[in-house]
Amino acid sequence: MENLLQVKNLNTSFRIGVGTVQAVRGISFHVGQGESVGIVGESGSGKSVTMLSVMGLLPNYADISADSILFDGREMTKLGPKELRAMHGSEIGMIFQDPMTSLNPLFNVESQLTEPLRIHQGMNKTQARARALELLRQVEIPNPEARLKQYPHELSGGMRQRVMIAIAIACGPKMVIADEPTTALDVTIQAQILDLLNHLKHSTKTSIIMITHDLGVIASMCSRILVMYGGTIAEEGTAREIFYEPRHPYTWGLLNSIPKLTGDPNEKLIPINGTPPDMLMPPKGCPFAPRCRYCMPVCREYMPPRTVLSDTHAVACHLMHPKAPKITREV
Ligand code: SF4
Repeated sequence: MENLLQVKNLNTSFRIGVGTVQAVRGISFHVGQGESVGIVGESGSGKSVTMLSVMGLLPNYADISADSILFDGREMTKLGPKELRAMHGSEIGMIFQDPMTSLNPLFNVESQLTEPLRIHQGMNKTQARARALELLRQVEIPNPEARLKQYPHELSGGMRQRVMIAIAIACGPKMVIADEPTTALDVTIQAQILDLLNHLKHSTKTSIIMITHDLGVIASMCSRILVMYGGTIAEEGTAREIFYEPRHPYTWGLLNSIPKLTGDPNEKLIPINGTPPDMLMPPKGCPFAPRCRYCMPVCREYMPPRTVLSDTHAVACHLMHPKAPKITREV
């Protein structure tokens, strides 16, 4: 599979009054053509900031640097704001967490859905309207003619998210970034939206990056997973490797805190004790060290190197060192 997106050594920080927040620290990853990749981690782990950095959608007080951000053969670090804006919507679509705040409350669905078609594809009003109707049908919105005239507040949460998806795919982007697309929805609608994204992925061969803290969402959508912690990639691998052969203590913690459908209904969930690191002053060594029950003296002093376990599986943990204690996941 050829790479559509290749990011090398991305660093993002925010200058705020009391110091610098080091949100993303030297991460590298790739996304193949037509591949679906999940980025999972707690709030503040850097997953959303990573993709907003790639898109160039961060505010002025953010500093972004990277050795390379190559998208479809083009070096994005060399593009100006105008060129980046032209890519948004036409080549990369975004679906945000809360459609109520992402959709403009002052414009009806037709205006918001036809705008990218007119700007990026040069369609006239009639052509854009016809395509908008087609898109609403594609995202399974009933009675699309009537929906075009409605405003966001007149739609249910699920409908609004479907409209967001229709806008994201309007110009046939090569990649769609979905940032917590189902968090604001109840479970039934959540399942319908995931079904819809899965269907789109297979029918349009669009690459999808799914950002979420929900491993269940990742499991149903993604073939490869990046586990982020403290602005770094703690572990990456195929869905099978992450769910069945995880090697990083943080990934173990995430998996152990998922409720099991089978087993004792009174069984208590195992939380990951402690809180995420303060990225104003991230730990000197492994960012997970203050919460890790297997922490060794070296972990507090040195950032763990990335250990490659297979073509697809890599882990950043000192436990991978041949002389480290042999520890396996406790389930
Ligand atoms: Fe735990 Fe050390 Fe591995 Fe970090 S490097 S996850 S502290 S064992």
